[in-house]
Amino acid sequence: MSKAIYPGSFDPVTLGHMDVIRRSAEIFDELVICVLVNVNKSALFSVDERVRILQEATKGIDNVRVESYSGLLTQYAKEKHIHVVVRGLRAVTDFEYELQNAQTNRKLSEGYLDTMFLTTSLEYAYLSSSTVKEIASFGGNVSDCVPGFVADLLAEKFRK
Ligand code: ADP
Repeated sequence: MSKAIYPGSFDPVTLGHMDVIRRSAEIFDELVICVLVNVNKSALFSVDERVRILQEATKGIDNVRVESYSGLLTQYAKEKHIHVVVRGLRAVTDFEYELQNAQTNRKLSEGYLDTMFLTTSLEYAYLSSSTVKEIASFGGNVSDCVPGFVADLLAEKFRK
């Protein structure tokens, strides 16, 4: 059975992430989305909230599971016996960061972990979780950027 991990912060999941999730779930028999705890990023949604949001957003896709992990991705991958990571590439600006990550993970895992990239669909190329949060923080409309229920959750967060 072919399996892959799609790791990220997903704070919160956007339609760009959803595009990568849908397409990866068609390529692999099983896709595990992993919310990684990133100490360098301050998050709007807690890890548990992000997991629940992703579960809700992917409930129609049978071969997708959502988990979270605090630690090295290479460690998680070995524990799960999964040796492929999926990442999305939006533009050249993502490239350097993603290349460095992919090479680090391959080195750190002694060749166990490989990274596969999906290029984003053009209509989502401009989207990022941080842009979405910025728009929502000013009361802007993000319904074209995130699943509908996520737009509601964002509005609620920023009302508080
Ligand atoms: P991280 O903090 O690990 O970069 P993100 O949640 O921001 O996590 O992104 C997870 C992955 O999804 C990354 O590979 C990122 O490049 C990709 N991604 C983010 N936004 C989009 C998008 N609009 N289209 C395609 N891929 C995306």
